[in-house]
Amino acid sequence: MPEAISHDNLSLSPIVAGLWRLTEWRMDVRQRVQWIEQALELGITSFDHADIYGDYRAETLFGEALKSAPALRRRMQLVTKCGIRLRSAQRPYRVNHYDTSAAYVRAQVEQSLINLGTDRLDLVLIHRPDYLMDAAELAETFSTLTREGKVAHWGVSNHTTSQFALLNQHYPLATNQIELSPLMLDALDDGTLDQAQQLGLRPMIWSPLGGGRLFTGEDAQAVRVREEMTSIAARLGTSLATLAYAWILRHPSRPLPITGTGRIEGLREAVAALDVRIGVEDWYAIWTASKGHPVP
Ligand code: NAP
Repeated sequence: MPEAISHDNLSLSPIVAGLWRLTEWRMDVRQRVQWIEQALELGITSFDHADIYGDYRAETLFGEALKSAPALRRRMQLVTKCGIRLRSAQRPYRVNHYDTSAAYVRAQVEQSLINLGTDRLDLVLIHRPDYLMDAAELAETFSTLTREGKVAHWGVSNHTTSQFALLNQHYPLATNQIELSPLMLDALDDGTLDQAQQLGLRPMIWSPLGGGRLFTGEDAQAVRVREEMTSIAARLGTSLATLAYAWILRHPSRPLPITGTGRIEGLREAVAALDVRIGVEDWYAIWTASKGHPVP
């Protein structure tokens, strides 16, 4: 698979593997190593984490696998996120909140390095826009941690175009990681994908299958979209999941979808979409099914 994103030497694979659900997969260390090896063999070399995934435990599970097979680290890019202070048994905050202060970002980056058993993170994202973010101060934090060799590149997730522009003015961001799927179309209209194209930055895409709702959702939108996509997928000879990835990949901002599956076959379905270019009418038929009305 060719390398996909280039931002001052950052290269992510065109399909990224997401580890949000890793703790649910109930894999022992050997199985985790095997899963990583199989992902790499499929050309998926980028792995998306966050400090909070699996109640702050997912990074450590992945790190255990890397410790037992250290050669794997050189073959991959590690992405993680910080900035959400999520209530948990070990973190009894009064409310969930965001924190992009220098001390907190540094503490979380250093914890992620320990959890993942590495001395450098390839890309760190601010997970959600912090209303109290001081852009100049955060940019300074980015610069310091990069100078120390701890983080190669920085980006954001779930940021609006103005939030992105503000921080990007102080520090060159590599990407905005956002939600997009046949069941979630907001990014098509709210300017985030326009901004990505404008800046030539490939967006990373979370929940490309609507978190599984594409297959199991009983709400009217999910039923409509599934029906339309099942018929298109049958005609094109692809699976429903592959078609969903192909629908995302068809966007000119050249998105990088993040998988959420623990199944290797699920990873294979994502990679298969790189060879499927869907027609404009099929793309709009899925849009129409999602909206429940034709284009104006
Ligand atoms: P997703 O691909 O939309 O959903 C994955 C879920 O769909 C899994 O439970 C998976 O179960 C299920 N699924 C996949 N194929 C299926 C099939 N053929 N039939 C039935 N169920 C199926 O992705 P996601 O997990 O929601 O998100 C992907 C990644 O994006 C996460 O791991 C994380 O890295 C990132 N993320 C980022 C943010 C953010 O705020 N930045 C938010 C959410 C997620 P199986 O394991 O059984 O396949």
